[in-house]
Parts: sequence; C-alpha cells; structure tokens
Amino acid sequence: MDRYRSRRQKMVDSQLRSRGIRNVEVLRAMEKIPRHLFIDEGLLDRSYSDGPLPIGERQTISQPYMVALMTEALALQGGEKVLEIGTGSGYQTAILAELADRVLSIERFASLATKARKALESLNYYNVLIRVGDGTYGWTEEAPFDAIIVTAGAPDVPEPLKKQLAPKGRLVIPVGDRHVQTLLRFTRLSEDPGDIRTEDLGGCRFVDLIGEYGWKG
Ligand code: SAM
Repeated sequence: MDRYRSRRQKMVDSQLRSRGIRNVEVLRAMEKIPRHLFIDEGLLDRSYSDGPLPIGERQTISQPYMVALMTEALALQGGEKVLEIGTGSGYQTAILAELADRVLSIERFASLATKARKALESLNYYNVLIRVGDGTYGWTEEAPFDAIIVTAGAPDVPEPLKKQLAPKGRLVIPVGDRHVQTLLRFTRLSEDPGDIRTEDLGGCRFVDLIGEYGWKG
C-alpha cells in the first residue's frame, strides 16, 4: 500500500486542478506516479509540496504544477516519440513515459542520469532511453520528434531543436534571462520549417540550460 497516495491526491486537487490543469490523462498520470521515489531521502517529507526541490549537482526537480502545465501543453495522444532535454530526477520523464509511446531524454550530469534511470527502472518504464550529453544539440539520429520539452531556461530556442521537430510537432521551452523566463510553445504547422505558431504560456523560473545553444557555463 502506497502511504503517499493521499498526499498525491491532495497535490493533484489543490495544486493542479485548482490552477486550471484539465487534461485528464495528465491528472491521472500525476495521481499515479510516486514523486517521492524521485526525491532524496532527507527531503521525503516534502515530496508532494508545492515547489521545486534540490536533487544534487545544484539542480532541481520542478514544481508539480510546472510539470503538469508543460506536459499538458504537449497535447500528447499516446503514439508520440518525445524528446526531453534535462532529465533531472526523471520524474517528468516518467509522466511522459505514461502518456507517449517513447521518450528519449538527455541530461548533462551523469550522476543525475544514473539516479533517474534507477528510479524509472524500479517503476518498470521500459519505453525510456536516457543519454548523457549536451541536449541543446538534440538527438539527431532519433529525429524527428512529435514533441520536445526543455526543462531548463534558455536564452533562445536552440536551432537544432527547431529542426528536429516533426510537422504538427510541439516544442515547449522556457526562454528568457538567467532569472526569469517565459514558457513558450512552438507548433510546427506544416512541412515548411518556417511555418511555426508561437504561444506564450506565462512566466516561469528554471535552472539554466547550459550548452552550445544555451548559456555558456
Ligand atoms: N524535469 C526534471 C525533473 O522533473 O526532475 C527537472 C529538470 S531540472 C529543472 C533541469 C535539468 O536540465 C538539470 O538536471 C540540468 O542538469 C539539465 N540540463 C541543463 N542544461 C542541459 C543540457 N544542455 N543538456 C542536458 N541537460 C541539461
């Protein structure tokens, strides 16, 4: 019996539904996935709190609401191949693995990738592949992607990610300065790579996207 179940239920009601998350599949996934399995032992008590938490390497697991908002924005139907940049704890990866066909995720810290792989394996997510590297290059061999999610703040949209988006694909990314960003959704409307709709999903605050097409160290 999962003793965290009621806390999870409360998180979904008071942090997600109450703030307008409506996608039933996203709500169901967040009600199901044990966030506490992605949290360091000393912080277990705060596993379902309304904010980000440290995960090591000066990085964070994102606020549950932000995970829900970004996932909802991807509008997943179940058959997608998804690229995630910034695996972190692997919690967002697990949500994506519930809602899509395959998830490819890139993390720059090997230590975080190792921990995330372990947590995902313990939950039997076998449709996930995590690689260590600079995600701002994307994952050329596996492109194109139906959905791309970047879970770190970028100065601008990395050009390779735009190129690796499939027609009708959605790219969700925080863009701004190193303190505050705007969550943007890009939808590629047709075969023409320039035919892109951009939407502003509101303000947010993320750790830096560090890499060739991100911030420099
Ligand atoms: N979604 C994650 C979760 O639920 O735990 C939180 C991710 S955390 C806010 C951002 C992550 O992006 C960090 O783990 C960081 O190391 C990673 N990151 C930053 N720049 C990166 C890059 N160029 N390539 C891959 N990962 C990167």
